[in-house]
Formats: sequence, structure tokens, C-alpha cells
Amino acid sequence: MKILVINAGSSSLKYQLIDMEDEHVIAKGNCERIGIDGKITHKTSDGKEVAVDVAFPTHKEAFLKLMELLTTGDCAVISNISEIDAVGHRVVHGGEKFFQSVVVNDEILKEIEELSELAPLHNPANVQAIKACTEVVGKKVPQVVVFDTAFHQTMPAKAYISGMPYEYYEKYHVRKYGFHGTSHRFVSGRLGELLGGLEGKKVVTCHLGNGSSISAIKDGKVMDTTMGFTPLDGIIMGTRSGAVDNSIVSYVAEKEGLSWSEMNSILNKKSGFLGISGVSSDCRDLEIAASEGNERAQLALDKVVYQIRQYVGGYAAAMGGLDAVVFTGGIGENSAAVRYNVCKDMEFLGLEVCEEACKNASRKEAKFSTENSKVQAWVLPTNEELLIARDTKALVK
Ligand code: ADP
Repeated sequence: MKILVINAGSSSLKYQLIDMEDEHVIAKGNCERIGIDGKITHKTSDGKEVAVDVAFPTHKEAFLKLMELLTTGDCAVISNISEIDAVGHRVVHGGEKFFQSVVVNDEILKEIEELSELAPLHNPANVQAIKACTEVVGKKVPQVVVFDTAFHQTMPAKAYISGMPYEYYEKYHVRKYGFHGTSHRFVSGRLGELLGGLEGKKVVTCHLGNGSSISAIKDGKVMDTTMGFTPLDGIIMGTRSGAVDNSIVSYVAEKEGLSWSEMNSILNKKSGFLGISGVSSDCRDLEIAASEGNERAQLALDKVVYQIRQYVGGYAAAMGGLDAVVFTGGIGENSAAVRYNVCKDMEFLGLEVCEEACKNASRKEAKFSTENSKVQAWVLPTNEELLIARDTKALVK
């Protein structure tokens, strides 16, 4: 069975064709600058690669081109579109309605569209992609949607309700939803395989990338997570502020004469690593700048480590214990310094890590807690596309 996995944004469309026999990626690529001009990069598992500029007025032209590259020319991996058995789409927001993946039909598509109010930048693009995909592959090929928010739907009300008047929850659905659910589910599921199940286990999963979130997972179910109503909440990220005292927002907006949308843009695009350091939104750049003596780059790194430690400790308290901490995402998988600084001096929690093992754990599945440590520390590389493909296979079978 071959499954095409789609991760669409408003101007991009990333794809992977996965052979479910052995779960290997046959080909993958990215259509960029949709609605602007257009470029596609396409790679096959046997090392062939092509990059072409091509006009992508809408997502439909991007689908047509990726299908052409999958089926014809040097980089072809299948002879006909009909070899694609199903398509799995990543959808950002499933609101309170979707707590698991579902097969797409007109009703589901309408509901995803209605949730656009909660994710105005993402859900409309996801809907456009699903519609364009249907036009290109036809209605006979089943499509499945996998929601970023779904895994977090097990949170209890005390975790998801905001401190504002309850009527805003009732009127506007204002609450914590959480994001990166597919990644938290993938790595916690993998940990379950390694530990022989998650029943009775209390786990903190740290997805640290350009966007970052941390989840408390008890018995395999999310109890709490750091992202909230939007992916702006929680810890500092590449360009996002994470949680700040809300009064700062109106105070600074007034001082600087900023509109709501200008302030929103500062909180989302000019804050976090970039805003604090003034150097970069990229963790690698900060680590280099800090090693050269840049104090603000060091401050941004110190701040993110401090916040992650606060959540590890806070979630351990909330769950009444801790069995494992998992690191994933670009920073979690690659930065030994962030991992080590988060986990060191945590013996009071039963977590003891080995610095050398932590260094060697980068870019692969590895445990870096000591043999005596009661709490295990792991690097578990995430694979959201594979989880989308697995859900798709399970639902269309
Ligand atoms: P996204 O959230 O966009 O998927 P990624 O998960 O790829 O992003 O994470 C990107 C982040 O990972 C960047 O901050 C980048 O600097 C960081 N990163 C990647 N490789 C390393 C590395 N070797 N050391 C430290 N940070 C790294």
C-alpha cells in the first residue's frame, strides 16, 4: 500500500510518498511559493533529485506538478497516479470536535472549514489542499485528516480552561487546545514500545523546534501541554514569545502606538530567540554566538532551558511523579547542550543523566540517563508524516 502524506500551508505543500509494506519513504518534496510564483524540489529514495521553477497560482497546480514528477521523467517512482492508495493530510485545528483522525467527506470538510476561525492561517490552507487533491486524484482515492490538536483532547478541564470569564469559553471556544499533537503522540507511542507500554507511566515529552511545546502524558494520555489557544503560548520559541504577562501587551502597544495586528506580529515573528538575542531565531546560531561571548544569545538559551526545567518539574508535580523525559524536534534531537542543561541537577526528581551519553544521543534514538536513574531520559526522533500515513492506512483498510 502506498500513501501520499500532505502537509500544506498557505503557500507551501510538503509531501512524502510512503510504502507501507516497510514504511519507507519512496519520494518526498516541497512545493513552495504557491500563489506567488512557484518552485518544486523533489527527491527519491535512491538519491535522484530535481528542482524546477513552475507557476503555482493555486494548490491544484502544485498537486498536478508533484503527480507529474512522481509518475514521469528521471525521478518517477510510480507509473500511474492510481498506484496511490490513499492520501493523509495534516490539519492544524480540530477544535473540540476531533479527538482522532477521520476519513474526509463533505461534512468533515465543512467542519474543518468552520474551525478556520480558530486557525485562520492554517485551516483554510488545509481545506484548499484537500479540495485541490480531490480534483487531481479523484473522489475514489480515500483521504484522511490527522489533526495537530487531536491528541491533546484528553486534557482535563482544569488544564484547558483559561482564567478569563467562562462565558468566553462558551461564546468563543476560548480554551487551551495544544498543538504538535502528532509529534507528541508519535514519540510517546515509541517510548511505549520501548518500555513495554505506557500504562501507569508518567512522561514529559519536549518537542523543541522552531515552534516548541512540552506535554505531560500519563497512561498514554495528555494531561497538559504548553501551547494553548494558539501555538504562541508556552515557552519561548524561534520567533514566538511564549506566554507573557498579558498586561505587557496592552502596555507596550500603547507606548509604541501599535495596532493589535502589529502587536500580534511582534509576539509571533519578532520575539523569542530572535527578540531576546537580537542575533537569530535559530538555535545553532545562538549556540555559536554564545560561545563567542554574546551575552544576549546566552540569555535566550538560558531562558529556554530555565522554562523547560520549570515545565518538567511542574508537570512531574501535576502528574504525581515522573518516569521519563523525551526530547524531539530539531533542537531536542540535535542540541546536546540544551538537553544536558535541562536534565542536569535533577537528581531530586530521580533523574540522573550522563553528559557523554547525552552528547552521543544526538540525531538518533538513544537513552542518556544513567543505569541508576529512576527517571529515564531519551532522544526519540519524531516522524509526524509516518504517523499520518499509519493513521491513514488504519482508517482506509
Ligand atoms: P520546525 O519546528 O520548523 O519543524 P525543526 O524541528 O527543524 O523546526 O527545528 C529547527 C530548530 O532546530 C532550529 O532552531 C535549529 O537551529 C535547531 N537545530 C537543528 N540542528 C541543530 C544542532 N545541530 N544544534 C542545535 N540546534 C539545532
